[in-house]
Amino acid sequence: MSNKESKENCIFCKILSGEFECSEIYSDDTVIAFLDIQPVNPGHVLVIPREHACYLKDLDKDVGGKLFQVGQKVAEAIRNSDLKCEGVNFLLADGEAAGQEVWHTHLHVVPRFENDGFGFKFSEKYFEKPSREELNQVAEKISKKI
Ligand code: 5GP
Ligand code: ZN
Repeated sequence: MSNKESKENCIFCKILSGEFECSEIYSDDTVIAFLDIQPVNPGHVLVIPREHACYLKDLDKDVGGKLFQVGQKVAEAIRNSDLKCEGVNFLLADGEAAGQEVWHTHLHVVPRFENDGFGFKFSEKYFEKPSREELNQVAEKISKKI
């Protein structure tokens, strides 16, 4: 495990221990949820496991399920609040290439609305749809590893 991945250097573990402050939304024995310090939109929440799991591969799958369940509860609460929310994105960056910056797995719950300035960027090749044969070949590569 590299230095940046260690529990000792983990910002979110420091939030869990109370060493760093956060604006908490929800807490139970398995996960906590709090506001992102740099929100995409007001109400942007992070749901994190209590266990220090750097990547999805390190995360117990039942805990992963819990992360999603609490994400659903948070999304519902945001929608039922008076925060501006016309839609919700769940985002989870697993690895640097995916945009991960904090090495403690976390689920982003992001309230969205029309013209909020946030979005996804696609490369040119995205617009050339693969054939069914190509899709099937890729599907096989993944399915045989499950
Ligand atoms: P990632 O890019 O790893 O998916 O997202 C990390 C998120 O953690 C970012 O959205 C960033 O704003 C948030 N973040 C980083 N440091 C802190 C912190 O000290 N407190 C809180 N609440 N959020 C943080
Ligand atoms: Zn941690």
